[in-house]
Amino acid sequence: MILSFILLFIIGAAIGSFLNVCIYRLPRHESIIAPGSHCPACDAPLSWHDNIPLISYVWLRGKCRRCGQPISIWYAVVELLTAVLFVMAGWKFGTGAELLPPLLLISALIAVFFIDLEHYIIPDVIVLPAAAVGLGLMIAIQPHRWAELLVAGAVSGAFFLALALIKPGGMGIGDVKLVVALGFFLGRTVVVALFTAFLLGALVGVALIAAGGRSRKSRLPFGPFLAVGALLALFYGAPLMDKYLSLFGG
Ligand SMILES: [Zn+2]
Repeated sequence: MILSFILLFIIGAAIGSFLNVCIYRLPRHESIIAPGSHCPACDAPLSWHDNIPLISYVWLRGKCRRCGQPISIWYAVVELLTAVLFVMAGWKFGTGAELLPPLLLISALIAVFFIDLEHYIIPDVIVLPAAAVGLGLMIAIQPHRWAELLVAGAVSGAFFLALALIKPGGMGIGDVKLVVALGFFLGRTVVVALFTAFLLGALVGVALIAAGGRSRKSRLPFGPFLAVGALLALFYGAPLMDKYLSLFGG
């Protein structure tokens, strides 16, 4: 058991390292395969031993070996976050086939979180394959849930499409596609993800206006809130769902 958690941590850190490449390169329309990893400051290619997730960051004390420019702490944060969430998923879902959809969802959400936060886009190249593979895996593993998953994706998508059409400049089409994918992965507990995202979005929006950092008009990307809401729903969806329902007398 301990061994599989250690393995999940290592796999998570490695996937996190790949997510760093996606987060940096996808919005810049660069290939995620070639060229290999290089220092963003001096372009020096990284040797394999300077490119080990987490370990190299500590070993190099967060600096490029050639030019000495600091390497962003966020690379290490993404690797650690992915590793920790992979271990948590192993703890909750076991180490059988049921673990595959959560690992896929976690990876996609981490990429979406950071890309949307910085660039205000949710790339199709992440969300569409994740939605298709996620739905396929979920139905293969839990065939009896097929209708629930499809309805959850369709209703969430229709709801967000309506929001995007009613108030252009608010929700984007990227958000619409993302919530369809969330419905496919989460089923009925997608409600928890959406509710949490709106709640967090409102809280952060008000806090930023109060702090004077933003006017009421300036727009926050919604993908990061959906990502946090979806992670909460993935791990605590069922108990939170029951709480909400009992709250509304259901
Ligand atoms: Zn450098």
